[in-house]
Amino acid sequence: MMYQDTTLPAIESAMDRAYQAFLKYRSKSAKEKALFIRTIAEELELLGDAVIEVAMREAHLPYERLVGERGRTCFQLRHVADVLEEGSWLEATIDTAQPERTPLPKPDVRNMLVPIGPVVVFGASNFPFAYSTAGVDPAAAWGAGCSVVVKAHPAHPETSAMVAEAIKKAIIRTGMPEGVFEHVYGANFEVGKALVMHPKTAAVGFTGSYGGGKALFDLANQRPVPIPVFSEMGSTNPVFLLPNALGNEPEKYAKMYAASITGGMGQFCTKPGLIIGIEGAGLDKFMEVLAEEIRQIQPLTMLHEGIAKAFRTKRNDVLSREGVTLASESQWPAEVYEGIPSVASTTAVEFVSNPTLHQEVFGPFALLIKCQNLAQMNEVISHLEGQLTCTVIANEIDLIQAEGLLENISLLCGRLILNGVPTGVEVGAAMQHGGPFPASTDGRFGSVGARAIKRFVRPFAFQNFPNHLLPDELKNGNPLKIWRLVDNQWTKD
Ligand code: NAP
Repeated sequence: MMYQDTTLPAIESAMDRAYQAFLKYRSKSAKEKALFIRTIAEELELLGDAVIEVAMREAHLPYERLVGERGRTCFQLRHVADVLEEGSWLEATIDTAQPERTPLPKPDVRNMLVPIGPVVVFGASNFPFAYSTAGVDPAAAWGAGCSVVVKAHPAHPETSAMVAEAIKKAIIRTGMPEGVFEHVYGANFEVGKALVMHPKTAAVGFTGSYGGGKALFDLANQRPVPIPVFSEMGSTNPVFLLPNALGNEPEKYAKMYAASITGGMGQFCTKPGLIIGIEGAGLDKFMEVLAEEIRQIQPLTMLHEGIAKAFRTKRNDVLSREGVTLASESQWPAEVYEGIPSVASTTAVEFVSNPTLHQEVFGPFALLIKCQNLAQMNEVISHLEGQLTCTVIANEIDLIQAEGLLENISLLCGRLILNGVPTGVEVGAAMQHGGPFPASTDGRFGSVGARAIKRFVRPFAFQNFPNHLLPDELKNGNPLKIWRLVDNQWTKD
């Protein structure tokens, strides 16, 4: 099916409806918003296999993966709804008055987080449900009390349209204002540009490539009124192999990493793209088993033509650099739009001097960097940019020998994993999915779990308000029974 780009006048109307809806939706109670968000999850489930079949055709992903991804998307929606009702996310804070204070009386000041306005969302091609039309950013924005304008990803417009219909049913079923969700199409950058530049847009949530995320961020900074752009972008997710732990179980880690590099044809933002080890028997064995495992993995069609072409260009770019050797690739020949499971290797010296090797190669590819010692590993760390994740394979002996290494690595990333793999992002209140630039344009936040709501709110203080004019969240009797910071003490009283 062909989808026409939304015209500029239609974008104008969509933004207008989104703004009008925001004015109504923001004052719905937490219970009403939670019901709306849960109903979206219900409607997504009611789409059954029909939407899965469309997503399989559009994204070339297998049935089980997409069913799992839809489940995860519904879980994220319900998680946001639960957190809304629990209420502590609002950071309701009350400093009671002290009229007798000298020399000046202290006023009554009460603060809570309030929604910022219509949020424009750009999803990524690699998660047609979880980072798309009803994905992490819309869930967080609705949770915050904002309306949402989604630009359907051109790689899965039909899936997006079906999800949009499900959201519209939830709007009707729960009596929400129509423009609380708007859906637009754009296979050309003009649509995205018009949305970001629109005066009624209050924030942007983007998931995708560094090129796209940074371009939209730069664009927003040219607006007469700047707005926050939360771009969640690519990452190389470095893995540091420390010699003692690796030497004890090189085969186990090699198999674990072969699966993590190539799972979903490597099309995850958390795919381990750089593996940094110290020369020795453990690393040699790890490399030998990893190479053998990679040879056994069959190429599969990638998400879309553009991703497949970019994969080949970037992989070839890395392989053509001096000092880089192809260690292993799939024994099966790959069709033109298929990924080529592969690993290459280089030395720490080459890596440090060649920034091309630091870039994300989105697909089933990883670069192994061989260091002579811990000092060289620290040198590599000092040349890395901000990351979504870093992983350390180490035992107690390694950590004593590599004193300070964990601290150095933690400066780089939003999530640090010990003795595991970075792929697989748990949805929950404690998750951090975002990191220092260029992993995200604002590493203070993340896009997964209820913390993501914080991107679309601002603190608002009421001073000297009588009880009946305050929102329920800040009223004296605490009618919602939520946790609040009253005179610097957390309480439900
Ligand atoms: P993408 O090509 O950047 O596309 C994302 C969206 O942004 C699309 O709607 C795209 O529209 C739009 N866009 C891109 N460049 C633009 C520009 N200059 N101006 C206006 N709009 C623009 O990303 P993708 O290929 O879908 O996803 C793969 C990337 O996403 C990988 O790098 C992966 O690591 C990253 N990712 C990150 C996360 C995370 O949470 N950090 C999660 C998943 C994926 P067009 O298609 O029309 O270009």
